[in-house]
Amino acid sequence: MENQLKSEVQQERPPRVVIFPLPAQGHVNSMLKLAELLSLAGINVTFLNTDHLHNLLLRHADVETQFAAYPGFEFKTISDGLPDDHSRSTDSVMEVLNSMNVTTKPVLKEMLVSGVLSNSVTCIIVDGAFTGFATDLAIELDIPIIHFRTVSACCIWNHFCVDRIIEAGGLPIRGKEDMDREITSVPGMECFLRCRDLPSFIQVSDLSDPKLDQIARTTNQSCRANGLILNTFEDLEGPILFHIRTLCPKTYAIGPLHAHLKLKLANNKTDSKRPVSSTSILFEVDTNCLNWLDSQPPKSVIYVSFGSITTLTRNALMEFWHGLVNSNKRFLWVLRPDMVAEDTEVPAELMAATRERGYMVGWAPQEEVLGHHAVGGFLTHSGWNSTLESIVAGVPMICWPYFADQPINSRYVGEVWKLGIDMKDVCDRKIVEKMINDLMVERREEFERSTVEMARLATESVSLGGSSYRNFDQLVDYIRQTGRKNLAK
Ligand code: UDP
Repeated sequence: MENQLKSEVQQERPPRVVIFPLPAQGHVNSMLKLAELLSLAGINVTFLNTDHLHNLLLRHADVETQFAAYPGFEFKTISDGLPDDHSRSTDSVMEVLNSMNVTTKPVLKEMLVSGVLSNSVTCIIVDGAFTGFATDLAIELDIPIIHFRTVSACCIWNHFCVDRIIEAGGLPIRGKEDMDREITSVPGMECFLRCRDLPSFIQVSDLSDPKLDQIARTTNQSCRANGLILNTFEDLEGPILFHIRTLCPKTYAIGPLHAHLKLKLANNKTDSKRPVSSTSILFEVDTNCLNWLDSQPPKSVIYVSFGSITTLTRNALMEFWHGLVNSNKRFLWVLRPDMVAEDTEVPAELMAATRERGYMVGWAPQEEVLGHHAVGGFLTHSGWNSTLESIVAGVPMICWPYFADQPINSRYVGEVWKLGIDMKDVCDRKIVEKMINDLMVERREEFERSTVEMARLATESVSLGGSSYRNFDQLVDYIRQTGRKNLAK
């Protein structure tokens, strides 16, 4: 009788998931949203950050208050193996990852077996961008593991297809003049994919480039996981999700995560007043730009932001600035303090025009900005979070992709979803000016139709009964099932 009671109590105990993100702004941000969604669903979550990243997070965001509402939630930290004074800049990401492979793996194993990570871990969700070692560990310790990818499904599918592209002679790329060559060997993308649209890490000129092998190997690790979570939705990337599911049958498309979380929080009566926006880890958010936007006419402003990593040369800065000013449109521009390395003298006429109809900030509350009635267009680097935020807000885009998944995202925005214009790898003041006018004036109605419709589909997907809503329920069911099995061991 006592045993039976004990087992019933155990079975009712919620499962505990360890979430382990890659230590970078966009990755931690998305995985915090996933953590909060799971917490709202009654799953206990241990969020595992590297010490360095966690200190940054505590400095810039009140995450402890945010998660205090969930008694089953806890933060834990782990060393990345690098000395405290290491810069851990974007350029040294490979160094960080290599160090984690060597140092963090044994520490993580020790934490899992010794019970430091709570002795009832029933599932691990890791960032599939870097955690081959966590997958090995989970398999060794017989803990179910799910991969989470923060980039688009169309990017992941390209990474899965590296061998096919090579076999079909699509890679390597032989010089700049080869960039418009079509790549016809990626199922689902036969009609519109060119070399210049491939994710940057596979745009190689030499097949022995170590990036290529690393990307393919890392992505293929997801086939060993028990599931794959993607921040996308069926109406946006359904055809590509179909292909991914031939390799990873349990692929849960639960995005757009920011909209999904916002809706679930709004429906959660106990916590409906908390404002929901992305957590800024690296930068202080300047909300004054919202007051400036308040005084601008509806849909009159082009918002310019290239995300948290992109840098600009002095030349690119000047081309964008002249293009913006010459377009005669109002603009709100995020120029991070670390964005332009070279000293730049700005011509007086640009400064004067900016004072007249522009506003610059170091870091904006982007989701609020995109949702503001004064914003009518977004000049973006096509980062996946920015793309999804723009889609949900129904704002058309001009895409200037920088690296990683951005070239394929921008191709989809321009050619497949028709949600904007793909400027791609040119940076010329005349083109910037023309495209802003095309987006905001000449083709405004065309883009208004497509963006309104896609925004509707995005919201529908995360609403009760929508595809992402249902996929999330299935994910939670799976986590609960694995929890029961584990607790019964
Ligand atoms: N972001 C922001 N304020 C800014 C610029 C960007 O809050 O001034 C946020 C934006 O909302 C998005 C993230 O930073 O959630 C950028 O992610 P994305 O995937 O678009 O690009 P990355 O920074 O990874 O290149």
